[in-house]
Amino acid sequence: MGPLVILGLFAAGALLSGGSGPTYEQVPGRVELADGVTLSPGVGELLYLASQRSGLPIYVTSGDRSARNQAAEMLETVRTEGVQGLSIYRAKDLIRELLGAPRDLNSWTAILQSWADRGVVVSAHMRSGGFDLRFHHYTVPQALRLVSTLRGLGVRVAVERDHIHGEVAA
Ligand SMILES: [Zn+2]
Repeated sequence: MGPLVILGLFAAGALLSGGSGPTYEQVPGRVELADGVTLSPGVGELLYLASQRSGLPIYVTSGDRSARNQAAEMLETVRTEGVQGLSIYRAKDLIRELLGAPRDLNSWTAILQSWADRGVVVSAHMRSGGFDLRFHHYTVPQALRLVSTLRGLGVRVAVERDHIHGEVAA
């Protein structure tokens, strides 16, 4: 976990221990992981704080990903949104290599793994720093509250097609 996030945690602690009290109903921090989802302890702790601060339970639908899981995710994006769906990724050379290869799980896994071995990951999910929260668990005002709570904790948040993607500094 990077210094920015740690600062965020301290700030959250200060807010939780003082202040003028909640303006909406609070629930104890509750973080639920979908089947097969794992998170680093640091990200788990951050989401626990986000739940306490927002008063919302947090359902994590994606966390740490192996190269294979990431490849499956990206192939699914291409299948549902077309190649354009990959424009959210910043590692453009890596994306170009993927698109030049056969679009199957083994090929894409091998490419993602080979870049990861050289220290380049396409997504924070591959370095235990990313998580996804699907919108269908929340109303629009709740999702907005969650986004602002996460940002207040120092999380980088991107609103994607059907989910909030969050990531902490490397
Ligand atoms: Zn994500």
